[in-house]
Amino acid sequence: MIAPALPHPDEMYRALLARDASYEGTFWLGVRTTGIVCRPTCPARKPKRENVAFFSSLDSALEAGFRPCLRCRPAEHAGTPPLWAADLLDRLRAAPQQRIRDVELRALGLDPVRVRRWFVRVHGTTFHGYQRALRLGRAMHQLQGGTPVLATTYDAAYESPTAFREAFAELFGVKPGEVGPASAAPLIARQITTPLGTMLGIANDEGLCLLEFADRPMLATQLRRIRQRFSAPIIGGSHALLDQVERELKEYFAGERREFTVPLRIQGTEFQRSAWDALRKIPYGTTLSYGEQAHHIGRPDAQRAIGRANGDNCLAIIIPCHRVVRADGTLCGYGGGLWRKQRLLELEAGVVGR
Ligand SMILES: [Zn+2]
Repeated sequence: MIAPALPHPDEMYRALLARDASYEGTFWLGVRTTGIVCRPTCPARKPKRENVAFFSSLDSALEAGFRPCLRCRPAEHAGTPPLWAADLLDRLRAAPQQRIRDVELRALGLDPVRVRRWFVRVHGTTFHGYQRALRLGRAMHQLQGGTPVLATTYDAAYESPTAFREAFAELFGVKPGEVGPASAAPLIARQITTPLGTMLGIANDEGLCLLEFADRPMLATQLRRIRQRFSAPIIGGSHALLDQVERELKEYFAGERREFTVPLRIQGTEFQRSAWDALRKIPYGTTLSYGEQAHHIGRPDAQRAIGRANGDNCLAIIIPCHRVVRADGTLCGYGGGLWRKQRLLELEAGVVGR
């Protein structure tokens, strides 16, 4: 993943004075005098330049101790792409084989640099990388469906068959001519913003494979495991199931959803699956101790192994490992950080306001 870069502070300050909506999703501003973080278009009175701290993500502003503004509500809007980005994504969905170059972006009135920044921040790849992954993912689907390599090459809009073969082999580790119906389709990854920070979602057509807080130390390990378990590459992109997760998470954080309906693609040993099944039976708003969970799956001797299995859960929130606490009720061990576990339990207990 490429680190997102911020525009020049002068440019950002001008954008916030003008309430320029095209900067939505590019930066957030923390106001030092009030301790509040806002979107560039916030209707509140504009702060003095020297009191503003700029952030490339809402998470980094929250981490720095700023609280979300009650007027522009940055957390609620964070997951929604700005209008120009939604329009670009619509264009790609309508015609995934087309190629939108910088000159086309400018013709649409968009600054290629700003487009790149937004895609790097939200999708972990440049706009061109995003388009390439879409075209290659589509090529993989076509080859699996029996479309001849040559026709697929043309459709993928590569300059030459060689360029296509090379790009394809680099992404999937298999040559286009070697793809069979059983070859693994790529897993689609995309970031999802929540009030507790950015999450990474990964899905294929069968279900959601991973949902994790993006700053989780174990994430790299989880990604490697997912790649191995599915024998498939992970590419950035969009997927209907990831859109569904995003919607359901939004409702969950608004206190309007207690159960998730997105299909899950759970991969694990028999023991892990029984531990995770037990987690999914813990009702919203309640907690269980490790001992009770061990008792529920008929393995009262296996508390430590259960703790490990809970830690290996890679579907945070949906498989609610945050609902397991120590026998004395105190919190312990949560991959996403104890502060998040605390906030999730408070949310479910109805303690935190909306
Ligand atoms: Zn605001």
